[in-house]
Amino acid sequence: KYRRELQLRKKCHNELVRLKGNIRVFGRVRPITKEDGEGPEAANAVTFDANDDAVLHLLHKGKQVSFELDKVFPPQASQEEVFQEVQALVTSCIDGYNVCIFAYGQTGAGKTYTMEGTSANPGINQRALQLLFSEVRSKASDWDYAITVSVAEIYNEALRDLLGKEPQEKLEIKLCPDGSGQLYVPGLTEFRVQSVEDINKVFEFGHVKRVTECTNLNEHSSRSHALLIVTVHGLDRSTGLRTTGKLNLVDLAGSERVGRSGAEGSRLREAQYINKSLSALGDVIYALRSRQGHVPFRNSKLTYLLQDSLSGDSKTLMMVQVSPAEKNTSETLCSLKFAERVRSVELGPISRKAELASWPSQEQLEGDVPGTAISSS
Ligand code: ADP
Ligand code: MG
Repeated sequence: KYRRELQLRKKCHNELVRLKGNIRVFGRVRPITKEDGEGPEAANAVTFDANDDAVLHLLHKGKQVSFELDKVFPPQASQEEVFQEVQALVTSCIDGYNVCIFAYGQTGAGKTYTMEGTSANPGINQRALQLLFSEVRSKASDWDYAITVSVAEIYNEALRDLLGKEPQEKLEIKLCPDGSGQLYVPGLTEFRVQSVEDINKVFEFGHVKRVTECTNLNEHSSRSHALLIVTVHGLDRSTGLRTTGKLNLVDLAGSERVGRSGAEGSRLREAQYINKSLSALGDVIYALRSRQGHVPFRNSKLTYLLQDSLSGDSKTLMMVQVSPAEKNTSETLCSLKFAERVRSVELGPISRKAELASWPSQEQLEGDVPGTAISSS
């Protein structure tokens, strides 16, 4: 029964992808905080459209600039509401899809809040794993699953294992020797996790590693990409069918344009690496969305590492984080332009706003789904 459901879902997915592509760009605006100060620099510069939850307006230097994304979350949107829009992506890993969720934006715009959240109000990372555990449990009568996690960071184009014994060691990305074209990272630690307690232990472990090695964790984390890589292996006991899906949860380095403000030495070097890898990511997403033949995955460690999870029938969500404060409008403008650029490509006749996030019900699936080949690649 599940196998049939899987095939129907794939069929439906393929059709949606054919029509609309599989890359979504969301925006999330954080609330004004104490850190924004109290003067005019902390005034609110972002407004929304009551009739259209995909549009936001930015008041920049006295002019209103409007942007249309796939969806926009206002400051009052809760972690639950945000997660509701991404949970279908998360569960598709169980069906064998690869998924990337990126948080993009300047330092202080809410990337870590969205991905990690707080202990009282966890973000996507924690909620995603929790959901995977419960979904896997509900299928346990027919399927065996193993969920593993890796935690890594990319700093100055060097990839490091935050769960490894030698976190200083730089890891290489290699092609699998089996000729499958898949990539892997020799030496990257994977922990099998079975409960929320397990993942808390893993996060704690990775966090401690990061803290003990950095003199200023906040600064360091704003200049490196943090990756949580979740792999879901499934085995249908009755048929022997195997699935592997990967969920990549990425808290990107801050997108602020440091190089232009007279940075020197190591700070300038960091800024150049960050600019390079963020624009490489933008180029890859743009190329995928516009279905260009050549996708420049190799231009950065990040896109090379995630190549398998960005191409084929993988699904990508870019969450562009925005500060609403007056003092941040220049950076906000840049972030929103980045967002528009990666989603600006026309994809077909169907409304671009139709939601891939909400899968059709079982009844709809059983009904008349336009036919395409059932395949995972
Ligand atoms: P970044 O990771 O992009 O540098 P953070 O996630 O650390 O930014 O957010 C900066 C500050 O704003 C933090 O104190 C965080 O708790 C707060 N914050 C961000 N987004 C929200 C939100 N949606 N609701 C409440 N507080 C938020
Ligand atoms: Mg952060």
